Amino acid sequence: MSVGWLRACALVMLGLFSVSALAKDKTAIVIGGGLSGLTAAYELQNKGWQVTLLEAKSSLGGRSGMATSEWIGNDKAQPVLNKYVSTFKLSTTPAPEFVRTPGYLIDGEYFSAADLATKQPATAEALKRFDKTVDDLARSIDDPQNPAANNTLHALDQMNVSNWLDKQNLPATARQLINQQIRTRYDEPSRLSLLYFAQQSRVYRGVSDRDLRASRLVGGSPVLAQALVKQLKTIKTSSPVSSIIQDKDGVTVKVDSVAYKADYVVLAVPLRALNKIQMTPALDAQHLAAIKGTNYGWRDQIMLKFKTPVWESKARMSGEIYSNTGLGMLWIEPALKGGANVVINLSGDNARVMQAFGDKQMVDQVLIRLHAFYPQARGSFTGYEIRRYSTDPSTGGAYLAFGPGQISKFWRLWERPVQRVAFAGEHTDTLYPGTLEGALRTGQRAAGQVEDLAAGKSFEPAKVGPAAAAAGAGAVVAKKGNFFSNLFGGSDDEKKPEPVKAPEPVAPAPVPAPAPAVAPAPVEAPKPATPAKAEPAKKAPAKPAARTEAKKAPAKTPAKKAEPAKKPAAKSAATPATDTKA
Ligand SMILES: Cc1cc2nc3c(=O)[nH]c(=O)nc-3n(C[C@H](O)[C@H](O)[C@H](O)COP(=O)(O)OP(=O)(O)OC[C@H]3O[C@@H](n4cnc5c(N)ncnc54)[C@H](O)[C@@H]3O)c2cc1C
Repeated sequence: MSVGWLRACALVMLGLFSVSALAKDKTAIVIGGGLSGLTAAYELQNKGWQVTLLEAKSSLGGRSGMATSEWIGNDKAQPVLNKYVSTFKLSTTPAPEFVRTPGYLIDGEYFSAADLATKQPATAEALKRFDKTVDDLARSIDDPQNPAANNTLHALDQMNVSNWLDKQNLPATARQLINQQIRTRYDEPSRLSLLYFAQQSRVYRGVSDRDLRASRLVGGSPVLAQALVKQLKTIKTSSPVSSIIQDKDGVTVKVDSVAYKADYVVLAVPLRALNKIQMTPALDAQHLAAIKGTNYGWRDQIMLKFKTPVWESKARMSGEIYSNTGLGMLWIEPALKGGANVVINLSGDNARVMQAFGDKQMVDQVLIRLHAFYPQARGSFTGYEIRRYSTDPSTGGAYLAFGPGQISKFWRLWERPVQRVAFAGEHTDTLYPGTLEGALRTGQRAAGQVEDLAAGKSFEPAKVGPAAAAAGAGAVVAKKGNFFSNLFGGSDDEKKPEPVKAPEPVAPAPVPAPAPAVAPAPVEAPKPATPAKAEPAKKAPAKPAARTEAKKAPAKTPAKKAEPAKKPAAKSAATPATDTKA
């Protein structure tokens, strides 16, 4: 008779029997310590699960936060984020007025929105007209959760935003600024699905800049990750997962030669990182195509530090500034202790062009352009920090930005678990991909799905493509009238667009060497944890792993690498399978 059974009998005799006393621990492994993974782990742990979080890097928080430059939305714009901010009693500071409206740097001259209206009325008027057109486009989508609801909308997914912009008859400067706005928020217009642009415009319709930039977390976005980290019992950093093996009894997750076992997994890594994880059984063709084919927007950030502000209109030139001359989107605000910082956001193809350059060369290119407008720049320059999200192999871009045809193929694909694996990450969110809000939402969703799976719920495979038949498309065309006719070029009174000069990508040129880089501070992982204590491992997978590492795994406790975790875990939620004591 087993010890457990004897103990249960004893409890019954003592009148202390409870179902939970007999129930085995519910175990889950969360892979990825970005905000989505941290949220999933936190939510599962709160529901009584034994959770182990495995993070490839030595620090936690993933892409969240360039420290001081991110603003967070209010309840209306980012409800889930605000919920965690209040749960963890995080301090916020309200956004100053200068972050409310964007400014423009046109051929080196700074314009506030008000300046633009008086000094460049044609450009201002074109931007206004464009906003109206985008609003019409957004209104064409009834349900942003189902953007390709009919064949007409489905057709938008086959178009790219650049081709659509060509039809808007925009003056050259307005087009350059609009291109810059779009590539900053998403990706290069030519790489972006028009349906995705429409869907996102629908999601944010009626949400003002004031809602979107309501406040800032004191300490920057990393404090949110830190708050979640503090709550978690078992975290293992420097633990890149290489394979996931599912069988009828559970899941085995491998980090080098160490294997962990649990009932369920939340896979919260970006798609390019997922591509490097071997899954057994393998994902189906649609998932594999999505991993390889889904577009990520490109965005790199360079913080240039100056002794004093070198730009004109010191007091006014602040906040988000769109340049039409290869400087991307500039973010300017006074540094805390004297000096001044400019964060240059190079996005889309401007960031892609820079892929071939080293950090210092990249900074040189930017400085040359800035120096052309502000000759004092070089003398005042003190150093830089750089973050290259696009070339980070674990991200392969900054965030999801569906390219043409990709919504039709991959919509909501990652919302459905595959057997015992649920997916999280900004790329798996339908409404707020590419944001902190999206990451948090998906962590919550994945945690809920693990609960559902444990309760026996099964999930339908994802359905993609238009829900309605051609008749539905006709109805929408009729309902929207000229808008759709114009969109597809069918209108008789449509004007031919003027030729538009595309913005110049940043081109290389030689410059003097800038100061050495200072690496941006990552989210500090908490103090080192004792490696998870070995528990008697659960049954070995019914089918041995296809990969040879499974066999090679030494029967020993996971190596004590730098594995900081908040608290020394009483025991690992996921049992290292190699520690089998049968
Ligand atoms: C430049 C830039 C600016 C942004 N600005 C804003 C903004 O202003 N507002 C906003 O709301 N959002 C912004 N975002 C988006 C936001 O930061 C992200 O949406 C969010 O942080 C993504 O979280 P995540 O958990 O989905 O992914 P990540 O943060 O990427 O987390 C994934 C984690 O998985 C880990 N990992 C990968 N492979 C493995 C493996 N094999 N084993 C174990 N771990 C692995 C990675 O190291 C990483 O820590 C910005 C993003 C970028 C890049």
